[in-house]
Amino acid sequence: ERDVKITLETGDELSSLAEDFNAMAEKIRKSEELRRNLTADIAHELRTPIAIIQGTLESIQEGVLEPTPALMLSLQEEVSRMTRLIKDLSDLSLVEAGKLELNRIKIFPAELAGKFIHFKAEAEAKGIRFDINFPRNLPAVYADPTRLVQIITNLLSNALKHTSSGRIELSAEKAEGGVVFKVQDTGSGIKKEDLPYIFERFYRAEKSRSRKTGGTGLGLAITKGLVEAHGGRIWVESREGEGSVFSFFIPSAT
Ligand code: ADP
Repeated sequence: ERDVKITLETGDELSSLAEDFNAMAEKIRKSEELRRNLTADIAHELRTPIAIIQGTLESIQEGVLEPTPALMLSLQEEVSRMTRLIKDLSDLSLVEAGKLELNRIKIFPAELAGKFIHFKAEAEAKGIRFDINFPRNLPAVYADPTRLVQIITNLLSNALKHTSSGRIELSAEKAEGGVVFKVQDTGSGIKKEDLPYIFERFYRAEKSRSRKTGGTGLGLAITKGLVEAHGGRIWVESREGEGSVFSFFIPSAT
């Protein structure tokens, strides 16, 4: 009887181990696939705007299209898109190589609040409430102010992009050894199956794949790299249809 029980327990443990192992293998396989896709993704992302620019210029030369101000503006947008991609790629390669230079200083989170005021106007124009909630007693963090603003700006831009009603909140709270910043939205949320991968470069949840949303799929990979360069970490909680909370920890000045 005892033997049977042990066998059963072992069987249970084995199948739970096998499950863990399969989940891990799946994650590794998907990461590898994303890595191999990197070059293909870059080529693809550049090919599209170049094709549009080339086609438009040819049509203008052939007299098929008038070079109206609106047409010139659309060309400009394609150029901006390429510029953004190249800037993102160079940021990403710096953070991934650990070669990003940080000019760290002691900084109180409240000092940065002014940098995000323009989001209030943008949110309110869409009928979304926007609040910044930095309590007075927050300790100073040890951070590069430009990079810290870039991290928060990336998260707020995403929140704005994926929210059509409700509220977006930027807040911060004291934590062991530092400060946890949070960007919370009442937007589309993220599917459970997408959640493990959204910090991977070029990963975009299916409905964000269109060119309309304008993203390169590099934003969160860069954001994560910037947080980690500060010795911090970043995580997300999200429920599809309800909204998302992106949180990151930045250590205090010691
Ligand atoms: P992108 O350039 O596409 O915005 P990111 O790396 O910033 O790339 O984000 C990756 C994907 O994560 C997005 O395409 C989107 O599907 C999802 N995502 C990021 N932030 C949010 C959010 N606040 N709400 C819903 N989905 C989000």
